[in-house]
Amino acid sequence: MKTVKIIYAVILLIAFSSCTEKKAEIEKPEYAIVIHGGAGTILKKNMAPGKEAAYIEKMQEAMAAGEAILKNGGSSLDAVEATIHIMEDSPLFNAGKGAVYTEAGENEMDASIMDGSNLMAGAVAGVKTIKHPISAARLVMENSKHVMMAREGAEIFAEQQGLEIVDPSYFKSERRWNSYLRMKEKQEAEEANKKHGTVGCVALDKNGNIAAGTSTGGMMMKMWGRIGDTPVIGAGTYANNKTCGVSSTGHGEFFIRNVVAYDISALMEYKGWSLEKAANYVVNEKLKTQGGEGGIVSLDKDGNIAMAFNTPGMYRGFIKSTGESGIFIYEKEDN
Ligand code: ASP
Repeated sequence: MKTVKIIYAVILLIAFSSCTEKKAEIEKPEYAIVIHGGAGTILKKNMAPGKEAAYIEKMQEAMAAGEAILKNGGSSLDAVEATIHIMEDSPLFNAGKGAVYTEAGENEMDASIMDGSNLMAGAVAGVKTIKHPISAARLVMENSKHVMMAREGAEIFAEQQGLEIVDPSYFKSERRWNSYLRMKEKQEAEEANKKHGTVGCVALDKNGNIAAGTSTGGMMMKMWGRIGDTPVIGAGTYANNKTCGVSSTGHGEFFIRNVVAYDISALMEYKGWSLEKAANYVVNEKLKTQGGEGGIVSLDKDGNIAMAFNTPGMYRGFIKSTGESGIFIYEKEDN
């Protein structure tokens, strides 16, 4: 009788475990992509008519470009770069065209990218003439022996690599220029910095490779020469196939001091935390108690997605091969 009971229990156990395995198989997407277009004091009541739709449309377009690559078996690096190009080209976001201004009235951009399959990374900082800073970051990673290049050196390298170089006036957008002029007059830098329009993308491809990238104009009214977290690997961007990929947006100085992107990965690696738990702890506890405003988007090797932020809003969205998707702006839809 005892043996019968044991056999019965073993059968039940096998049946249960194959059942949960199936569930995990079904839920694990073949590929996934997540983006952000900046976090900050983004409130529904302050949105000009049509603006919300414009953001949603652009985020949809950007993610669709990345998804098409992933669907066809392309690499997560290609998906991240293509997605960020579209956001860099749009004056809606604080990256590429539409970048914010330094206190000297110039656009100085930062970007970085990381390949989670081999922990290679590339970044550019303080560049003023490279149309797509994210592509320059990728070329630093792939075609130089360095991780980070800055200012004229980075620009000359990008040109030699065949990237499009533009006059600094290309990045100007009326909206940002007018707010720069207003702030300069009223010394409102504090208020300006409550909106962070940086862009970022993390993707998981069909080969299980994770890539992450981030591109920005930095913070409005920053001192010229100031470099934020965006090009700092481990702060603004991080990717590791063993854990996750992360792209940050927010008050860069806090993100650098807290090594935010790597911290999330490290909590997963060393403590065995889930992505959701690690992301929430870093953004909504550690950063929040210090007054470090901002957020992150991230995904793990199983295609789980976390989009954590401690501001009233963050432009964000994701698509998974399973058909799940979403685009969101506010923390609460009614604020
Ligand atoms: N993190 C960026 C920086 O500090 C700004 C942003 O996310 O908007 O340069």
